[in-house]
Amino acid sequence: MCMAYSGNCVISNFTQGRDSNRGGCAHSCRFEYSLKFENDEAKKKAYFMSSKDLNGLAVLEEFIKEGIDSIKVEGRMKSHLYAGTISKVYSEALRYYAEHGNFLSDQIYEWEQELKKVTHRAYAPSNLTEKADASTIFNERESDSTVDYVMIGNVIDTAEDEFILVDVRNAFTEGQTLELVPFRGAGVEFSASEILGLDNVAQTRTKPSTLVKLPWVAGASKNNILRAKRC
Ligand code: SF4
Repeated sequence: MCMAYSGNCVISNFTQGRDSNRGGCAHSCRFEYSLKFENDEAKKKAYFMSSKDLNGLAVLEEFIKEGIDSIKVEGRMKSHLYAGTISKVYSEALRYYAEHGNFLSDQIYEWEQELKKVTHRAYAPSNLTEKADASTIFNERESDSTVDYVMIGNVIDTAEDEFILVDVRNAFTEGQTLELVPFRGAGVEFSASEILGLDNVAQTRTKPSTLVKLPWVAGASKNNILRAKRC
């Protein structure tokens, strides 16, 4: 969420000469700043311009009932894992509503758990439900994130019942538990029980930016994301 409201932010222009309203945001609001008090008594360093991340799941039903038929989710400057997970959760929610005409609390809880698996600041509905104020500021270091998932790679091709071909982003080892994130439905955990290079030679540890074949995972399709718990 941009604390400065869409189309009105000049923090990036002012600090970096990069216009956020033309796609050049330097994320200046996320930096640490010093506060100089009038009596010059103290300079407090803080992330007071950094907002919490917007989470609109809880109000999605209300929005749909009000006739909103298009939503925008953040992802342009984010990782593949972030963009993939957020789009999956919100598209599942919209599809669920179209099919059932309501949301169940259990279902919302599950989607909320998914949203917690990507790197994020604290979530808040913020100005979707009320005026943004001091409670919507995330005044902590981003490294305080407790997210424990990492993107392993992208499925770039499949041979049904044989293997999935993966473009590796983060190294993993033979026997490690990975999770396939399908476009619909829950993630599928599986073991990288055998890792083969394109030459069909077995590997015990992969390297980023290489292609490997992993055992077939039912339901896998091209462009699915693989993730794993951080070791
Ligand atoms: S992320 Fe921060 S700096 Fe960038 S447009 Fe939003 S409020 Fe401005």
